[in-house]
Amino acid sequence: MSPTMSQGLLSVEEARDAVLALASAVETERVPVPDSLGRVAAEPATARVSLPPWTNSAMDGYAIVATDTRTATETSPVELRVVGDVAAGATPSGSVTSGNTIRIATGGRLPDGADAVVPAEATTPIDAGGRPGLRGRDATGPVPAAIQVHEAIAVGGSVRAAGSDIEAGATLIESGTGITAAHITLLAGTGIEIVSVHRRPRIAVLATGDEVRGPGQDLGGAGIPDANGPGLRALVTAAGADPINLGIATDDLDDVLTRLRRGLDSDADAVIVSGGVSVGPYDVVKRAIETVGRMDLWRVAVQPGKPFAFGAADRPGGGRPVLLFGLPGNPVSSAVTFELFVRPAIRKLAGRRHLLRPIDRAILAEAVTKSHGRRAFMRVEIERDANGMPVRDQRGRIHARLAGGQGSHVISALAAADALAVVPESDDSLEAGSEVALWWLDRA
Ligand code: AMP
Ligand code: MG
Repeated sequence: MSPTMSQGLLSVEEARDAVLALASAVETERVPVPDSLGRVAAEPATARVSLPPWTNSAMDGYAIVATDTRTATETSPVELRVVGDVAAGATPSGSVTSGNTIRIATGGRLPDGADAVVPAEATTPIDAGGRPGLRGRDATGPVPAAIQVHEAIAVGGSVRAAGSDIEAGATLIESGTGITAAHITLLAGTGIEIVSVHRRPRIAVLATGDEVRGPGQDLGGAGIPDANGPGLRALVTAAGADPINLGIATDDLDDVLTRLRRGLDSDADAVIVSGGVSVGPYDVVKRAIETVGRMDLWRVAVQPGKPFAFGAADRPGGGRPVLLFGLPGNPVSSAVTFELFVRPAIRKLAGRRHLLRPIDRAILAEAVTKSHGRRAFMRVEIERDANGMPVRDQRGRIHARLAGGQGSHVISALAAADALAVVPESDDSLEAGSEVALWWLDRA
């Protein structure tokens, strides 16, 4: 146990630092780029090709020598002879010389000799009999014999130079980057088919409590349905890891130990135990953690979630330690301590560089009170406009109101919450209109 523990409760930061100090990225694997959404890059990826690979047209129009159009105006156009046509995907067969032009589609490779494209909108087609067509409509249909250009076009106009987006060999994503849909566009768009990522961490979840009943089990006179097992496994999935279900243990040391060991044997990277970590007569989880490994910390100055416990066990096959989390059984305490301590650890195991949520600022619509000396994470709903956008005041602050009762058993308020409003240790209460930090939660 850490020396600070005897002096009282650990701060949120002290507890999180201790947790993160033991978490390190899991092994890597290679996956097809289209399957890599949400995975974390394990090494930098570099572009196989430049983009564009060759200089191409940004518009449907005509490839030209720009200086030919120097004197062109709306009423005094310059006429150019059309000597070819380049579709997207076609290799130009001819080249452009002064006085001539080649029709070109958006994305078509710029023919040799051309240094600009005049968009179809700035031209009038002329047929073989010298008759003008519709001014500036489009460049569809048969290739005209000639065009009139109604604007002076600068060198490079409507042209996308080879490599202007990405040079072959450039770094596309750094290791530690969580791969988004845009990254998949980037990787695929530069010719990458396979990417090296970390495997998903495996996180075992064990609910405990003599009163806790599994799905379909009779509640009897004093049972409650298991909220934490399914809830924590869902949080594990949402955090980017694969959950392992260790079921529900009774408040019996041997039952907890048997299931904890099953978790260790299943090659889990971490085991989360909910319940039984407090000071009650049946709270056996701390002893179980000390039996299979060691306890590093217990009790944090946080509300809800004070009895949070953390430790580690040797991995049966050697290597990184298995992280052991003891979360308080009240479902809101479980969810909040998961958010504060387990989720950042899962992200570190997953190889991510960015571990914590972005923090916003909010104004509380109502007065709140909290426990002395602990940092409170209150479940709040935020004001939204008709499209669901958060409403902000002129200083960019969001309006938040309590999502319901703040007891650590109130799962209705947990489910209604958009975010956690953070009230510092130093305040025992806050008035309506106070500014607080806002910790967004995952929410559709
Ligand atoms: P404990 O941390 O074991 O003292 O439990 C604190 C409170 O949380 C008690 O009211 C328990 O009944 C409740 N609780 C513990 N585990 C669960 C669970 N898996 N699902 C729902 N409630 C639970
Ligand atoms: Mg219990």
